[in-house]
Amino acid sequence: MSIFEMAKIPLQKAIEKMDLDAGVKKLMEQPERSMEVSIPVKMDDGRTEVFTGYRAQHSTAVGPAKGGIRFHPDVCLDEVKTLSFWMTCKCSVVGLPYGGGKGGITVDPSKLSEGELERLSRGYIQKIAAIIGEKLDVPAPDVNTNGKIMAWMVDEYEKIVGHAAPGVITGKPIIVGGSLGRTEATGRGVMLSVREACKKLNIDIKQATCAVQGFGNVGSWAAKLIYDLGAKIVAISDVHGAIYCEAGLNPYEAAEYLAKHKVLSGYPGSKDISNAELLTADVTILVPAALEMQITKENAEQIKAKIISEGANGPTTPDADDILAAKGVVIIPDILANAGGVTVSYFEWVQNLSGYYWSEEEVNDRQEKLLVKAFEDVYTTAKQYNTTMRIAAYIVALRKLKDAIKARGWC
Ligand code: GLU
Repeated sequence: MSIFEMAKIPLQKAIEKMDLDAGVKKLMEQPERSMEVSIPVKMDDGRTEVFTGYRAQHSTAVGPAKGGIRFHPDVCLDEVKTLSFWMTCKCSVVGLPYGGGKGGITVDPSKLSEGELERLSRGYIQKIAAIIGEKLDVPAPDVNTNGKIMAWMVDEYEKIVGHAAPGVITGKPIIVGGSLGRTEATGRGVMLSVREACKKLNIDIKQATCAVQGFGNVGSWAAKLIYDLGAKIVAISDVHGAIYCEAGLNPYEAAEYLAKHKVLSGYPGSKDISNAELLTADVTILVPAALEMQITKENAEQIKAKIISEGANGPTTPDADDILAAKGVVIIPDILANAGGVTVSYFEWVQNLSGYYWSEEEVNDRQEKLLVKAFEDVYTTAKQYNTTMRIAAYIVALRKLKDAIKARGWC
């Protein structure tokens, strides 16, 4: 089964509960537009390497397409289309005036020099410039991309169009129009979702333990901010391996350790564990913040967490969802749990278009208001329909998408 087929399973379940019109369903089932490009890059040794890149725009019913760009060896058109579909739903759950898009390049960026990475990033923008724009499709960072890459990309786009257009890409460094609070934003959203879920389940966060899979931008910030709430972070991992620390670890120090040693292994007071052990660790809260399809029917039964907050997009397969729902595990779905990033991207875009910049406090306050409201909407809908928070999140998203599609007369 392709990943897009898998992604449509909860969509279908939500549609059945809402009795949605067939036209809306068909529009949801494929992106409006997708593009595949080849990007020639002069490598440092003089060779020319040709990379494949993609951009998918799933929906523009509510507004311009919005979503990140990932650099990863497994990137393919099916994955990018799926991720663009999730962006449509994510933006709709929070009520942002955006549709969904996603892009990517099939590459292992750790094998490129800084110069090669810059030429690849600029080459990608040259190829997709015709279909992105401040009011058309607004990319942002995703797996293995960051502010530095966004700065090269916005610079390349502005050279092509011949004028400033900072709102074409979000997640930029502050000096070229980025927003305060954007770097921490996705992890902050994950933390807020955990905080709200603990309140609903009467769990005292200060007594809770937490494991975080993935220690990139999302995982590391989620770990730090959940730690700041008073929870004990007992396990973390990155691409190279996982560590466990029964007494709890300080994620700020772990991030420094990782920056210095390039691996988490050997962190004082910790022992190495496998990725499988991290996911099934005896914790209150599990935050999968790495890649898709990590929690599957093979390991779902062994999961001990009471709350799973999906920092990554698509970390849980539909089979695993059913197993976890039967066990009573509360999953805060990706399209809600990790929506904090695109929410602050929206604020960045608003600041770019208006040319007026907000304080970090204002960004954080507004983010919290939108995310807490989205959490409440999803939670209430789950109770109302007697369903999981994932299906409820799709119901909340589809209600708004349906209204926009109908208002435009698309079906
Ligand atoms: N890549 C992030 C996501 O999956 C952020 C997207 C954005 O800010 O546009 O939500």
